[in-house]
Amino acid sequence: MGCCQSKPKDLTLTDIGKDAETKGGRRNSYSKDPTNLPTTRTDAPSAQAPSGPQKRVHALYDYNARTEDDLSFKKGDILILLDQTEENEDWWYAQHTDPKYNNQQMEGYVPRNYVALEDTLESQDWFFGKVTRKEAERNLLVKENPVGVFLIRESETCPGSYVLSIHDHDQTKQAPDCVKHYKMRNMDDGGVYIAARRPFRNIMELVEHYKLAADGLCRALSSPCPRAAPVMVDLSRETKDAWEIDRSTLQLMDRLGAGQFGEVWKGKWNKTTFVAVKTLKPGTMSKEAFLAEAQIMKQCRHDKLVRLYAVCSKEEPIYIVTELLKDSLLNYLREGDGRFLKFPDMVDYAGQIASGMAYLERNKLIHRDLAARNVLIGDNGTVKVADFGLAKIIEDDEYTPSSSGTRFPIKWTAPEAAMYLRFTIKSDVWSYGILLVELTTHGQVPYPGMNNREVLEQVPKGYRMPKPADCSVHMYEIMLQCWDRKEEQRPTFEYLECFFDDYFVSTEPKYKESS
Ligand code: ADP
Ligand code: MG
Repeated sequence: MGCCQSKPKDLTLTDIGKDAETKGGRRNSYSKDPTNLPTTRTDAPSAQAPSGPQKRVHALYDYNARTEDDLSFKKGDILILLDQTEENEDWWYAQHTDPKYNNQQMEGYVPRNYVALEDTLESQDWFFGKVTRKEAERNLLVKENPVGVFLIRESETCPGSYVLSIHDHDQTKQAPDCVKHYKMRNMDDGGVYIAARRPFRNIMELVEHYKLAADGLCRALSSPCPRAAPVMVDLSRETKDAWEIDRSTLQLMDRLGAGQFGEVWKGKWNKTTFVAVKTLKPGTMSKEAFLAEAQIMKQCRHDKLVRLYAVCSKEEPIYIVTELLKDSLLNYLREGDGRFLKFPDMVDYAGQIASGMAYLERNKLIHRDLAARNVLIGDNGTVKVADFGLAKIIEDDEYTPSSSGTRFPIKWTAPEAAMYLRFTIKSDVWSYGILLVELTTHGQVPYPGMNNREVLEQVPKGYRMPKPADCSVHMYEIMLQCWDRKEEQRPTFEYLECFFDDYFVSTEPKYKESS
């Protein structure tokens, strides 16, 4: 019996005939204001609702409607699915009987990642899907989570099999707060087990059993690991494709910061949704180049990349609307709680950043301006890479290395990029090495005591920064590899992600030696 057998039968979707899938009307023909609701709803799209067995979806999180087209719901609500076609993979059309509106049936779009088909594994509070071991630990080790809090995830190494991860406290360990991972084995008849002596018909039964007693695990399961609502893929279903939006739909509220090329504001879209709005100084870039690059950025979807939602490019200043986070990693390290950051957290951030960059690497994209100022920090120790691709299209003589422009980030740039404009993912790896210095020095400017000209002269001759005091020998070795003169000798981001995710598993002895 291999570990990669097909999913246990009981866990697949409830078997409902495809015929039941009927396309509902696309828009509500009435307003959501309860006073405007028609009492008889013969005109409503639900008249086209399926007559056969209904597919029902379970709301995984609260959601507040953002436009006239979508539906509000609360975690645990059950909605009826009216349309779930592939073209609509991010938004499903559903019907909701909302007690807030006199139990009127409302129809509209729901974000796909906020709901799950009822009675599936995905609809269980403890099911986290495809998350890495490291991400599971990050979720479970949040301070507020007591021991016994657990989640189930799909194995990274063995798709189709599952892992139970439990928050444990183990006095014998150097870090007593830890996570234990138990691999489940699939059986030919669809059953699963962790210990062969104790098989179950499905994962639900396994969870119920281990809630009652540890029975060989580190401890009995308590409650499912809490999780924050996922980042929305789009502002709304409409802006999924029509993401050139009217700037009158944006309200700029607080200025969050200013960079070389403009300001960043906390804003509200459509009076409902908080976003970050980057305003670009007029003349910073050509509209055509910007839109071409934004098209690529819009397609980038990764948990560790800041999500681009929309743009206003019809007139200047160009606005770039993105996911809102808390602050830049640089500010956080210099002035925020990051001043007290410990080495294990630095390693964790290094892994998250490498993970976002590995996505760009897989998709043959280049960042060109990777630095702590372009990494943003969110809730619960999440960091995300921002501003990818933007540097390429900035039309500013001071931001090109050839002129040794004062604004160009020489200290982050690989020699071949600074001298010959050879920007590749490998020059990004170089910048990542510099970012590791920023991380381990609490945001110090790299090459302290040297100016840009000196760096441009000395680095091609072989000068490299010394090991920062708070950095382990092992991490410094990685920095030096990132700064290899030969681009092809530098590690890949895929390697760097694994390296930092497994840092304490594989290098702990070295870490102890050196710090
Ligand atoms: P720089 O990269 O030079 O810092 P930016 O214009 O990219 O300049 O950003 C300016 C500042 O705005 C950042 O340092 C950060 O504090 C803030 N900021 C940028 N983007 C966001 C965002 N999506 N969410 C929250 N704050 C942001
Ligand atoms: Mg930036």
